[in-house]
Amino acid sequence: MLLVNLSQNAHPEYRYLSRTLIEHIDTCLKQWQKTILYINKRGSHSSLVCTDCNHLFGCPACDHALSIHTHPPKLLCHICGHHENIPLTCSACHGTNLLQVGVGTQQLEQQISFLFPQAQVFRFDFDQMKQKKQKSEAIAHLHSADIIIGTKMITTGFDFKKVGLIGVILLEQELQIPVYNTEEKVYQNIKQLLGRWDRPDTETEVIIQTYIPENPIIDHICNANYKSFFQYTLKERKEFYYPPFCEIAWVEYRHLNEERARDFIARIYEKLQHEDTEKAYRIDRSLSPIKRYHQYHFHIMIRGENIRQFLGSIKDEILRNKGLIVKFGE
Ligand SMILES: [Zn+2]
Ligand SMILES: [Zn+2]
Repeated sequence: MLLVNLSQNAHPEYRYLSRTLIEHIDTCLKQWQKTILYINKRGSHSSLVCTDCNHLFGCPACDHALSIHTHPPKLLCHICGHHENIPLTCSACHGTNLLQVGVGTQQLEQQISFLFPQAQVFRFDFDQMKQKKQKSEAIAHLHSADIIIGTKMITTGFDFKKVGLIGVILLEQELQIPVYNTEEKVYQNIKQLLGRWDRPDTETEVIIQTYIPENPIIDHICNANYKSFFQYTLKERKEFYYPPFCEIAWVEYRHLNEERARDFIARIYEKLQHEDTEKAYRIDRSLSPIKRYHQYHFHIMIRGENIRQFLGSIKDEILRNKGLIVKFGE
């Protein structure tokens, strides 16, 4: 397994393709072997930013960056489906220096096809499957392709022959999501991807590209050491008090009116704090909402023991208010 630091090794024009990866793809093609390029699902599209004022083009109905799609060209919200034409000027400052950030499957497909015009490149992701409609047709393409570019969908259910190279385009793309078990999910996805080919009896080369080679998760993946990773995450979870060292639940309230949602969740938060007479729980609330489908979502995170019983104190509120729901974590 090769770990490539993109900040030292990137192609001058394509920031997410290292010279090392390009050389290895070339070798694979010459030896009639398949290459699989993996992009973490959640960050699989790039977004548009104005470099004059740093305005990020987001969805008007959700707190979510719009993703650039090239076929047909448009900006699309992956949460609510809102779409608009790709602008030529910034809506905030009218500047014209707009930049695509992040790497998406479509952009990668274009770049790889440009670098290797002789190769059969096949992109396998959710958008592509929707277009093809016929899954079987897509799978036939997969087996004849020289280079497959895919999201998490390719990590399960396929047994490709003659895989010479697996490239993880940008390991940290998924690490930026602020959820406490993100690192574990990234680790699982990568292990699932590599587990299929990275066996002692196969010759498959694995290249992991990253801008943060010092992140501990990378060391655990490269050394294929589940035990050390498990101990590392368990230690972190204990230190910051997360499952399995406690139970976890989220109380969520959503409303079209932001102020109303904020006031309501504040009242529930105070009520819960008041009920927690023995200070047995850790109760945290979000001060800024997440916007989805024009609605404002506020959260209270509760950690402790016997949370279900504790939440009995707001049972009436839950029954009375449609927008108030409880989600339990692992
Ligand atoms: Zn949206
Ligand atoms: Zn601007």
